[in-house]
Amino acid sequence: MRMARIAHPSGVAFVVIDGEGDGSHDIDNLVAKEIVDHPFGTPEYTGREWPLGQTRLLAPILPSKVVAVGRNYADHAAELGNAVPDEPLIFLKPSTSVIGPGAPILIPPSSQRVEFEGELAVVIGRPCRDVSAENAKSVILGYTVANDVTARDLQRADVQFTRGKSFDSFCPLGPWIETELDPSDLSVVTELDEELMQDGRTSDMVHTVAHQIEFISAIMTLLPGDVILTGTPAGVGRMLAGQTVSVTVEGIGTLTNPVQAR
Ligand code: MG
Repeated sequence: MRMARIAHPSGVAFVVIDGEGDGSHDIDNLVAKEIVDHPFGTPEYTGREWPLGQTRLLAPILPSKVVAVGRNYADHAAELGNAVPDEPLIFLKPSTSVIGPGAPILIPPSSQRVEFEGELAVVIGRPCRDVSAENAKSVILGYTVANDVTARDLQRADVQFTRGKSFDSFCPLGPWIETELDPSDLSVVTELDEELMQDGRTSDMVHTVAHQIEFISAIMTLLPGDVILTGTPAGVGRMLAGQTVSVTVEGIGTLTNPVQAR
């Protein structure tokens, strides 16, 4: 099931998406069916629905926090000259960095090198702590697509990640949450102005989704709607104002955002 959040002619709603399409190029065949309250639990329909083309997709969830895992693909760690860490290397992105499909990624004047990182994102479904890898699936609502936008020059200058990863608009999420998906071997593809830049598979992750949840939930309580960014494959690169970046994860859809100067 694909759960989305939309702006419709009279407000904002969580919806279930019906029909075939990737959420970026071909939304005219899709219908958005409103659900009561929120996407956690069995959806109850209100009976209102809209052709998706008459609405605007928003970030599918508003997380209390975004936890990101760095250097989780060996080929990406190598391209930046980093070793693969023995344990997941985690950092936080603020909730205010989240934007939805089609919203602009804003290049701040303080950075000369803003890069895309296409990633599979996990959306947590219930409050949890100390979750074992074996039980990780039970706390997952579903999966969406993320772009872990990074001011690489500021990240390098600071050693730690907060400034380079946290600007407003640096966490595009969408187009929706796919609730039925096996995350173990999916293609992750990033295109910049329709040119292929990243082409990886989640089977190349150093730490699996289940291990990431075990590791992170041993540190902090995860809340419904919290998002885990699971790392990016090789091929990261710079984005310039005027370009358009798309991230596609197999089985979920395509997240497309224009790039603008702030
Ligand atoms: Mg990343």
